[in-house]
Amino acid sequence: ILRVEDLTRTYSSGGRDLMVLHGVSFTLEPGDTFSIVGPSGSGKTTLLGLCAGLDRATSGSVYLNDIRLDTLNEDQRAAIRNQHVGFIFQNFQLLPTLTALENVMVPLELRGEKGAKQTAQSLLERVGLGQRGHHYPTQLSGGEQQRVSLARAFANRPKILFADEPTGNLDADTSATVIDLLFELNREAGTTLVLVTHDLDLAAKTNRIIRIKGGTMVNG
Ligand code: ATP
Repeated sequence: ILRVEDLTRTYSSGGRDLMVLHGVSFTLEPGDTFSIVGPSGSGKTTLLGLCAGLDRATSGSVYLNDIRLDTLNEDQRAAIRNQHVGFIFQNFQLLPTLTALENVMVPLELRGEKGAKQTAQSLLERVGLGQRGHHYPTQLSGGEQQRVSLARAFANRPKILFADEPTGNLDADTSATVIDLLFELNREAGTTLVLVTHDLDLAAKTNRIIRIKGGTMVNG
């Protein structure tokens, strides 16, 4: 479902080039659960953004469902993302002009499902936010927004879900709930999980781990 070959990403800033990823390669099969771990600044979020089609590699290739992402323009990549991909990202999250309930309803309505509102409400209840459906994203904490994203992912049942630090700003109980829900989505819908995390307990629950250090894979 995801194949990454010899990926590099260079950022230019202040007239200088900074290579933050060099030569990363791996392949994921449908239903895999995968975590990317490594020190702060090692390139994990950059790698996730490239795999998810949010960003374009400097060289190398990314195939998502056999579609080569790195040669597509932003509109084409957005179309692929909408079709196949779920996100739990810190800065690529909910639609700010819609309430929590409406955010979860979007994928259901796009598919023309009947009873979208009831389904969305029950998904919010599942993530412990049954009483917060009428709140806008800015009226929710970071952790609550992450849980709404997770409810939306359940509605969307994506083939692959990319999550950047899904438990990063959650307390222990909420974090345990979110982890359970992620793996439930994997079991129920066969969603491939790709997680960037500092939480080694969470990483240990996935069936593959790669460690990134200084922009390269140090094991695989
Ligand atoms: P953390 O665990 O702290 O989130 P990370 O491993 O996810 O870190 P990245 O966010 O991928 O690391 O960043 C890798 C490096 O690339 C860092 O040194 C960062 O400063 C740099 N970087 C990231 N985004 C940009 C950008 N848009 N322009 C220039 N440099 C960037």
